[in-house]
Amino acid sequence: MKTASKSDLYRKLPSVDELVRAPEVAALVSQEGQVAVNDAARAVLARLREEIAAGRLDAHGVDIALSGLGAAVERQLRQALGYSLLTVINATGVILHTNLGRAPLSSSALEHIRESAATYSNLEFDITTGERGKRDVHVDRLFRKLLSEELAGGGVRATPVISTIVVNNNAAAVLLALNTLADGGEVIVSRGELVEIGGSFRIPDVMSKSNAILREVGTTNRTRIADYERAINDRTRLLLRVHRSNFEITGFTEQASIEELVGLARKRNVPLLEDLGSGALLDLGSVGVSGEPGVLDSLRSGVDVVTYSGDKLLGGPQAGLLSGRADLVARMRANSLFRALRVDKLTYAALEATLLAYVKRDHDSIPALRMMRLSKEEIGKRADAIAARGQLPRLAIEVIDGESVIGGGSAPSAVLPTRLLAVTGDGLSANEIAVRLRACDPPVVARVEDGRVLLDLRTVFPEQDDAVAQALVQVAG
Ligand SMILES: *Cc1c(COP(=O)(O)O)cnc(C)c1O
Repeated sequence: MKTASKSDLYRKLPSVDELVRAPEVAALVSQEGQVAVNDAARAVLARLREEIAAGRLDAHGVDIALSGLGAAVERQLRQALGYSLLTVINATGVILHTNLGRAPLSSSALEHIRESAATYSNLEFDITTGERGKRDVHVDRLFRKLLSEELAGGGVRATPVISTIVVNNNAAAVLLALNTLADGGEVIVSRGELVEIGGSFRIPDVMSKSNAILREVGTTNRTRIADYERAINDRTRLLLRVHRSNFEITGFTEQASIEELVGLARKRNVPLLEDLGSGALLDLGSVGVSGEPGVLDSLRSGVDVVTYSGDKLLGGPQAGLLSGRADLVARMRANSLFRALRVDKLTYAALEATLLAYVKRDHDSIPALRMMRLSKEEIGKRADAIAARGQLPRLAIEVIDGESVIGGGSAPSAVLPTRLLAVTGDGLSANEIAVRLRACDPPVVARVEDGRVLLDLRTVFPEQDDAVAQALVQVAG
């Protein structure tokens, strides 16, 4: 028997016109419109032509493909008209997983976004005077409550005026601060703090984009306050401290303390900026996380301005916050870069609702904080319930001790004790199980360690436990 040439195979394919007139495809036009159906048909035929060109389809293969052409067009159409940004179940145990969208928002944040974004709002409008207002006011009052009033210690001392402005993310906050305070001048930074935070945020690069000149002092492992002092000259505009966030230097190390830096900054009349990264608004000691400097700790020590993210330990939307001395923050606000880096009403709505939860001390309404505060026992009960749902063919499920991490470049060494579902397969590798879990709807993202798939329910919402159990059934099937 003679094998069909590629041109014979191409000739078997219908034209786009013929395909869209086929009854099962034509039926889709009334729902989705002619243009979308034409596009889908074209994409399906193009894919078939590629398969033929690559020699992956013989005459028999083409016949099979042709018999399923209508269904293929429908699948293509659903995919093209569906969302690309999807819900996934985070079973990694990494609470602030940058690739999975960092902090999930609270229900009050979602509700506030919905109600203020679906209609008009007073985003930049003063309702009392009827005149133009500022968008910052919506969160500045709450930050004042959370920062200035706390610093004043219940009104005994005079309230230091701490202002806060909001930009797109912490990278933008650092850029704005450097450009405002040090454009054309020098910024002194320890060589041990010239960090890269995932996704190409590198302190030296941000520094050059801000038009500030980096003045490195000390060494990778040791920098003393005298190193900073020696580097100060008449071009010095700023001292910068960068939180090491995602790594630690151990062994023969030395770092100038914040108190020493504050002392030097005051003595030489140069402002001190601290890039905190995470910026906790809550003392995390209660959940066993230490060494993560809070926004208040930093301001209390006398740092002039701190920068931090909205979607790390704060548990809110993506944003960059600049809090500190009112006169310095006012200069940043007046910088034309601020207009380019500002955030929209959705972010203000989510941030206002999240901050209000802090003001009300309703921390458990913020998902990231609630997850951090979950006990190993609570997580273990849920894991046991899933494991006890009965034997699955080809999968063995155990509940074991393990550790969750905070993630998002926060407290790299802090771990929270947890209980894990450890899954191994009979004839299925750990990687194959992980791939199959991701192919579920919704996809389940897990960790693979030592030949096992590990699922940590700390980062799974309890109402998703059932979907995790069903995903395991599907993987086993
Ligand atoms: C995370 C982090 C950043 C970047 O913050 P984004 O909000 O992701 O832009 C910058 N500096 C430090 C120290 C960080 O930890």
